[in-house]
Amino acid sequence: MNLSSLNLFSNLQATNKQFAVIGLGRFGKAVCSTLHGLGYEVLGVDTDEKKVTQALSDRIAAHVLQLDSTEPSALAEAGIFEFDTVIVAIGNYLAESITTTLNLKEGGVTNVIAKASSETHLKLLKKVGADRVVFPEREMGCSLARSLTKPSILERFDLDPDHSIVELFVPEKFDGKTIADLDLRRRYGLTLIAVGRADKFEINPQPNERLRKGEAMVVIGSNKDINRLPI
Ligand code: ATP
Repeated sequence: MNLSSLNLFSNLQATNKQFAVIGLGRFGKAVCSTLHGLGYEVLGVDTDEKKVTQALSDRIAAHVLQLDSTEPSALAEAGIFEFDTVIVAIGNYLAESITTTLNLKEGGVTNVIAKASSETHLKLLKKVGADRVVFPEREMGCSLARSLTKPSILERFDLDPDHSIVELFVPEKFDGKTIADLDLRRRYGLTLIAVGRADKFEINPQPNERLRKGEAMVVIGSNKDINRLPI
């Protein structure tokens, strides 16, 4: 199970199958080609002719256009205000990123996800109305640090700054204990939502089930409580 995919699920509603990606740098290209590979209709956009030509020859999106997203009329003409989700993947050009995000919100786009490359950039994007801001370098750095210090945590999905869903190996101390014995809710304030055996996850496992070292378990709760687990 890959919990990081939950990030994506939150943005893929039944009516929400078209995406526009503005900026075809490394990040934008990765977003485009992944969505395209998953079968979604993607429009890629860049001001740079070379980036557009490259994207077309690499076939990373169904449609690729050359336009300047700081121009509201160019966005309107390309029909970008009609998209439910637009990803602003312009990390290194602050003014262009902020102006584009503002244009999209003013043009009525419901879900604008923007990439930040600094704390100030992040704050500005939120101020102009970005619905979600991603800061890949920071998120990746945090995730690397966590995986180095807590190798038994396999996946982590941050619900908000204080709460997460984590997939972890059953700690040695829990080996052979039943779910009722462990009483995770009372002792740790955590809810066990699944146990992974072989290739399958059992959702809402029964209290009399015994956990074994090497199996995976998925819990939801506060980061403070998750950190109290004996891992
Ligand atoms: P990296 O490539 O290192 O991942 P990044 O994803 O942050 O970095 P940038 O270097 O910010 O990418 O470049 C993003 C792309 O956005 C570039 O290809 C650039 O040509 C494009 N771009 C910049 N300004 C505009 C604009 N006004 N309209 C459309 N595209 C733009």
